Amino acid sequence: MSLLNKKKAITVVLPAPHKAKVKCPICKGNKCVVCNMTGNLSIDVAPKIPIQRAHIIKYVAENIHEVAKEITKKYGLVPEINTAEVLELNDGQYEVVQVSSLGGVCWIVNRLDELDTPRYFTSKQELDRFKQGWMN
Ligand SMILES: [Zn+2]
Repeated sequence: MSLLNKKKAITVVLPAPHKAKVKCPICKGNKCVVCNMTGNLSIDVAPKIPIQRAHIIKYVAENIHEVAKEITKKYGLVPEINTAEVLELNDGQYEVVQVSSLGGVCWIVNRLDELDTPRYFTSKQELDRFKQGWMN
């Protein structure tokens, strides 16, 4: 048996608040004024339960727009934007701006030596093709 087969799923322990009904600890179910003669008490509990990390990642991937918005709102995190490189192609000079975020990276290519509409690339392959001068 390989190590892989034995590998346990990585879990993350998170609070999972929910309403629970427990037997009244005062009268032990025999009904008293504390439990309004029901024998039970309704309480809010927040046990920490293990959740497989893969489920969390799947959730994030499927809800990236919401998650990204919340991250910016709560933690002030925004995508990182930086100039990846400045290119000299046959017909001109271009700045490759990389936008890095939870959702991955993408590139905006701006022409520097004259006015032109920016180009957007979401695949490295496409960007590389552009850089080799195949998309002009
Ligand atoms: Zn009771």
